Amino acid sequence: MKITEFIVENLLRKNLILYKLSWKLYNNLVFKKKIEKDRKKFFSKIKKIEPIISKVVDTSYKPDINVIKITIDCLRNDHMSYNGYERETTPFIDSLKGYRTTMISPSSWTYPALASILTGLYPHNHGAILNGKIRKFDIKGLRPLKRGVITINELLYLLGFNTYSIAPIDLAIYATKGRWCLQELIPLSNAEFIISNVIDWISNNMKENKNFFAHVHFGDLHEPINPPKKFRNYFGKIDKLPNIENWAFQKPETQRGREFEKYKENKILLYDNTLRYVDHILERFYEFLEDQGLLDSTVVIITTDHGEEFWDHAELEAKHFYDVRGYAGIGHGHSVFNELIQVPLIMHGPNVPNRQDDKLVSGVDIVPTVLDLLEIQHHIFLDGLNIFKAPTKRVLISENTIHGYEKRALIYNNYKFIYSQDDDVSWIFNLKKDPYERNPIVDEELSKMFMSKLHKLTSEKMILWKV
Ligand SMILES: [Zn+2]
Repeated sequence: MKITEFIVENLLRKNLILYKLSWKLYNNLVFKKKIEKDRKKFFSKIKKIEPIISKVVDTSYKPDINVIKITIDCLRNDHMSYNGYERETTPFIDSLKGYRTTMISPSSWTYPALASILTGLYPHNHGAILNGKIRKFDIKGLRPLKRGVITINELLYLLGFNTYSIAPIDLAIYATKGRWCLQELIPLSNAEFIISNVIDWISNNMKENKNFFAHVHFGDLHEPINPPKKFRNYFGKIDKLPNIENWAFQKPETQRGREFEKYKENKILLYDNTLRYVDHILERFYEFLEDQGLLDSTVVIITTDHGEEFWDHAELEAKHFYDVRGYAGIGHGHSVFNELIQVPLIMHGPNVPNRQDDKLVSGVDIVPTVLDLLEIQHHIFLDGLNIFKAPTKRVLISENTIHGYEKRALIYNNYKFIYSQDDDVSWIFNLKKDPYERNPIVDEELSKMFMSKLHKLTSEKMILWKV
């Protein structure tokens, strides 16, 4: 057992204070030097790029608004109770005033999707992708952000912000490693522990009297799913089943019968119980923000990097898409169906309208929207648009899948086009008539049109900054 797993198994579930103390000890022994190294790297690098950035951004202007971005890994749009889900999974999020809509994730897995959320660029433009024709996840296959790509964290730092990123999953920090004033990776930590660190950081930051940008990533809904005891059986008791915290029934031939149905039911129940726990921790975090008087001066964004599949498209996947692992229907990263790329977006704070929208937006829209909300003047090349000004009808894409061949999705109005050249898939779905993407339409003429749009959109753009 790894030391981090030992700490979580033995302390976190029983006593948060003990966990915190042991984490600090472990952190001092192992991570502190790494974090310091990254900090030094950040401060020396940012000095070098400042003159270039000041050509495309008005760095003399200092906005007076904080920004908090919360990404809840593996969060499904259709499991939010405000979207009519059968269990009341998110009563606190439901109660928030502000803007909410459905977002298309630029990719169905963590690394490229979070890079898009922090750069405003699609994966083919920011470059933080998994490379290769037949993909099999390997950390060595990850490409870094392209030279010249600027993240919103670096930009806000140059405008006087302190910046902070915290995550329990390594892939959530890799793409922007060394680009923050402080970036912490706390493996396997739960939402409560993550938030206690965020609260410490914000409280320290308030003493400095500087604006801040914090990116908070939760991994509770990502396997291994292990909510605290109080929430584990929240909507119903979880049966003791092998691998319920990770995945069983991965192979198509095992995905039938009573045992499978029982496992599936329990797996989804565990996910929902855990989502209710995350919602509860968010409520406590908001109590802190309110107590500190921060809510009126802070833009808060709650979203995710991607959703999670519970065998929604297992049959179609097993039949039509090659997966090196021989898996179908579980987890994320392997497909572009809606359970993975249609995700929630909630936003509130100064200048944010108060309404629920039915307009689809993209993860690449978050950066341009925040820059506009903060009234920052810039000429940075961005794939996204300001969410509040973007047209209702527009083409959005999702790309860079892992596990097998590349699969891309293009969404336009009620249509969705799924394309995988090597799997020989060129499907159209009418989402109004077929919202669960059960019946792919094969229409050569329409496919040709979508393919040329997709090709045009995913062609590499060489100019990253409009100077
Ligand atoms: Zn993720």
